[in-house]
Amino acid sequence: MRYFIVIFITSLLILNTHNAWAAKLAIVIDDFGYRQHNEEQIIGLSPFITISVLPHSPNARRIATLAHKHGNDVIIHLPMAPISKQRLEKDTLFPSMSESQVKTIVDNAIVRVPYAIGVNNHMGSLMTSNLPGMINVMKALSGYSLFFLDSKTIGKTQVKKAAAGYNIAVLTRDVFLDDTQTESSISQQFDLAVKLARKNGVAIVIGHPHQQTVNVLRAKLASLPADIKLTRLSELTIPISERPKMTLKEIVEKCKHQFEAVTNLKLIEE
Ligand SMILES: [Zn+2]
Repeated sequence: MRYFIVIFITSLLILNTHNAWAAKLAIVIDDFGYRQHNEEQIIGLSPFITISVLPHSPNARRIATLAHKHGNDVIIHLPMAPISKQRLEKDTLFPSMSESQVKTIVDNAIVRVPYAIGVNNHMGSLMTSNLPGMINVMKALSGYSLFFLDSKTIGKTQVKKAAAGYNIAVLTRDVFLDDTQTESSISQQFDLAVKLARKNGVAIVIGHPHQQTVNVLRAKLASLPADIKLTRLSELTIPISERPKMTLKEIVEKCKHQFEAVTNLKLIEE
């Protein structure tokens, strides 16, 4: 028995060193700057939700400032050209633009969205699949300490390849919450993200300020399983060695929650 306890605690400590057992769920809500009422509701839900602001939206500066004051991470939702024909934001980035044109647009976006600590692409199936175009974006970003969240609007994205060599941390979206704007579909997507977080240790979801998304998030966050930790996006870009370690007491508590979660799961299956 004593042998078992020693092995058990040792494995917990090893797990903790690699931070492998905290199932982290990062929620990013983008397209911010147009729908003030819904956006304020989202900010009010939790300071752990990351807010992504369109630089040329009418409320960009005000909503970014409000989110920052509430403790939410703020990122820039940088408009990039899609393959399909859609209504484009002002200053949408195209592969055909020169390095200096891209730099001017990126610099301007950074000025328009105060407190931003990162960037993710708005649309961008055409732009993010173009390596020279994305290299121009990474060059423009390299003068700032910003990470890049790939919204992954296309399978053959070149974001990681382009960022290599420019010292820009890249994160990738796992789940879109509200491609289908019904509460039942959004709820299913949320559960899928929880499942992925448990499986991979982390999941990044992207949603939009639709009323249905607000409703589902409110309900889901109020009953978030104990083994899932809502996590700011910025926490995922910190190297593992620099992340805060858990105390033994926290490890035992966490283990208790995990055990309860597993027990509950079994009960439901039965
Ligand atoms: Zn968008």
